[in-house]
Amino acid sequence: MKKIGVLTSGGDAPGMNAAIRAVVRKAIYHGLEVYGVKYGFQGLIDGNIEKMELGSVGDIIQRGGTKLYSARCEEFKTEEGQLKGIEQLKKHGIEGLIVIGGDGSFMGAKKLTEKGYPCIGVPGTIDNDIPGTDFTIGFDTALNTIIDAIDKIRDTATSHERTYVIEVMGRDAGDLALWAGLADGAESVLIPEAEDEFEDVIERLKRGHDRGKKHSIIIVAEGVGSGVDFGRKIKEAVNLETRVTVLGHTQRGGSPSASDRVLASRLGAHSVDLLLDGKAGRMVGIQQNKLVDHDIVEILSTKHEVDLDMYRLSKELSI
Ligand code: ATP
Repeated sequence: MKKIGVLTSGGDAPGMNAAIRAVVRKAIYHGLEVYGVKYGFQGLIDGNIEKMELGSVGDIIQRGGTKLYSARCEEFKTEEGQLKGIEQLKKHGIEGLIVIGGDGSFMGAKKLTEKGYPCIGVPGTIDNDIPGTDFTIGFDTALNTIIDAIDKIRDTATSHERTYVIEVMGRDAGDLALWAGLADGAESVLIPEAEDEFEDVIERLKRGHDRGKKHSIIIVAEGVGSGVDFGRKIKEAVNLETRVTVLGHTQRGGSPSASDRVLASRLGAHSVDLLLDGKAGRMVGIQQNKLVDHDIVEILSTKHEVDLDMYRLSKELSI
């Protein structure tokens, strides 16, 4: 293999730039040529591809977002779109592709691999919702952004004796909400994987209020429902002043944490090693601090499991 490509796809995540840097530098270290594909699979179809040098990835390790931009591309879900992408790979002589993104992006990588273009997936998404890796790139930074926001909200919540409902990202996975809940000592955490009874949330609120708590924090993952609706229901159920904050896209931005930079560097570099070893259709990951790789098809057919022991712990610690 002499020429490889790299793209970022789906929702962006802090640390994607560090992963791109690692891919480019590791590839050049091994004497390969590297091509950056801009705007994910859309850019692949459009031939938005350019050669990257050592300097192309200078001064990006600390930046959020993705230097290669990202996109959602419906056309790439079709056979026709995938063939157009392959034509571009052929035109540039690119023999293998590294896809940094979430599980949707890995579907695209799987299709290309099946058509004879070896791809390696690098898990980059703030949701931490990909099986086969303990952490995805971006999760740690997003978590710290949430914690920072909640700490600030806590100050004002205490001053005004308010109950705060915080809606965080996580359509199908409750990892961000759960970790944030534990890290911030929230009264209740509502995640898609566990049916928390609304009565239980109310019960905890009342108990806390009765023993003189000045504020309460309830974290809701977006997949469970709207934070605004929960806020309204809580206000109706208990006579406590309730406010809602939806953290939204602030969770996706910002300079990546040290952990995310290190994770992205390790995973990005490992993905190049796998291509050079002749592997295809694999996803790199980290498990118990060891680099691993798994069959992408297997990953796509496995459901991500949130750690329910942690969920139980969060309840035990906020009695
Ligand atoms: P995140 O979950 O963080 O948003 P993601 O990678 O799961 O990231 P998606 O929007 O699901 O984001 O997928 C990104 C892109 O991957 C899609 O826009 C499309 O171009 C490609 N893709 C998704 N599913 C398929 C598929 N079945 N076949 C080919 N390509 C696909």
